[in-house]
Amino acid sequence: MIVKIPSQVDSVLQILTRNEFDACVVGGCVRDSLLGKAPTDWDVATSALPEETMRVLDGFSIIKTGLKHGTVTVLSDGMPIEVTTYRVDGAYSDGRRPDEVTFTGLLTEDLSRRDFTVNAMAYRRTGGLVDRFGGRDDLKQKTIRCVGNPDIRFREDGLRILRALRFASVLDFTIDSETAESLNRNRTMLDGIARERICSEFTKLLCGPGAERILREYRSVIEEFIPEIGASFDFPQNNPHHIYDVWEHTIRSVAAAPPDPTLRLTMLLHDLGKPFCYSEDRSGIGHFYGHPEISGKMADVILKRLRYSRKMIGTVALLVRKHDLSLSGGEKILRRRLNRLGEDDLRMLIEVRRADTLAKSLKDQEKLPLLENIREMFETIIREKQCYSLRNLAVNGADLIDAGVPEGAEVGRLLTLLLDAVIEGKCANQREALLDYVKAERGKLDDGAHCTSAGTGL
Ligand code: ATP
Ligand code: MG
Repeated sequence: MIVKIPSQVDSVLQILTRNEFDACVVGGCVRDSLLGKAPTDWDVATSALPEETMRVLDGFSIIKTGLKHGTVTVLSDGMPIEVTTYRVDGAYSDGRRPDEVTFTGLLTEDLSRRDFTVNAMAYRRTGGLVDRFGGRDDLKQKTIRCVGNPDIRFREDGLRILRALRFASVLDFTIDSETAESLNRNRTMLDGIARERICSEFTKLLCGPGAERILREYRSVIEEFIPEIGASFDFPQNNPHHIYDVWEHTIRSVAAAPPDPTLRLTMLLHDLGKPFCYSEDRSGIGHFYGHPEISGKMADVILKRLRYSRKMIGTVALLVRKHDLSLSGGEKILRRRLNRLGEDDLRMLIEVRRADTLAKSLKDQEKLPLLENIREMFETIIREKQCYSLRNLAVNGADLIDAGVPEGAEVGRLLTLLLDAVIEGKCANQREALLDYVKAERGKLDDGAHCTSAGTGL
């Protein structure tokens, strides 16, 4: 069997068919099964109307997810399964979702409303694969192709333009030439699409194995919703560290980063400020002073517009601003950076630096072993639970007060001083050593006070 239907899904299909309805699994789960990948979720399509589905499946918990569009979610042995009535979509006057849907008893009609041939296949538990639009061939050819006329399909729903790029990136497929020409031609359709829908498809695109190629070949489509990238296209760097223009460097750095949304977004945005900071010195070498800050501001604006979460915006904008921060100088510097950035962000910053370096000149890449040393040093600090913040300093304010420090600002000043000494390796993070350090420090102060008063007395 080419599609291995899990038992939770099979029991839903069985009940529907036992009740004389047609039912099958459809879309992404069929596509992924044929590719030999484990599907993330299973969608069921059926000739049963939503009320009929709910009636025959009344033994299950059911959530009325989108009754108007024919969808209910069935909880089968802990697995949520979307069960949707076969439907044909009405007109798309807003270019986003159908104004109305019409239910149909025919699977083929339901398949014909789907976006791409590879997403328009169904599988019945008894009758096998239903592939009316050549999806299986396109999977073999690694091709994304619209079901039907691409111009019509993209004008019905502009999001499909970005979905085509998303699937091409995630599956590492090429886009059929007719579909590709059409999506370029119709790219302004993306202007009317809800930013949240763009955000979700775009994030998947960025994390796919084909991201670099798609960002290169379809940059004008991406520019439609991130116009800020346009200034980087073909912008020469004239700098010995770089062998690519700003956009080419950017997309290579995206691909060099691990497939994680935060890191890939950071790489996409990290140099966007460069074209606005360009200067040349006397020998004609290009510089981009201040670009991390400008890029950070741009990242903030872009990610807000695309409705990313506040946490994501905060982290990405920070990583962009700090992407050139020096990490060399041994454990002391790393403890300082840890104090400022915290463990998670510094670990990501090391990844950012690596991806950035991998997209630079070969000479720069020779520095990668140094970065690996930095990473190891960083992991050692974490593993050994070395102290880099007041939280893990072996004394606190109360300890200092017990040791005779007067309450108030002096406590804070001494704690900062102790932390600094520990970070610099001048004092061990041990209670006794720290209290001795305080004593010596206060002694110095007293001496200083005597000197001063002696001085003024003269
Ligand atoms: P994933 O593995 O990312 O979930 P998927 O193929 O399941 O991939 P979904 O976005 O979950 O993608 O959509 C499920 C199915 O619904 C698709 O396979 C496709 O058949 C259909 N579909 C989704 N969005 C659209 C759309 N905008 N236009 C036409 N058909 C769509
Ligand atoms: Mg899905």
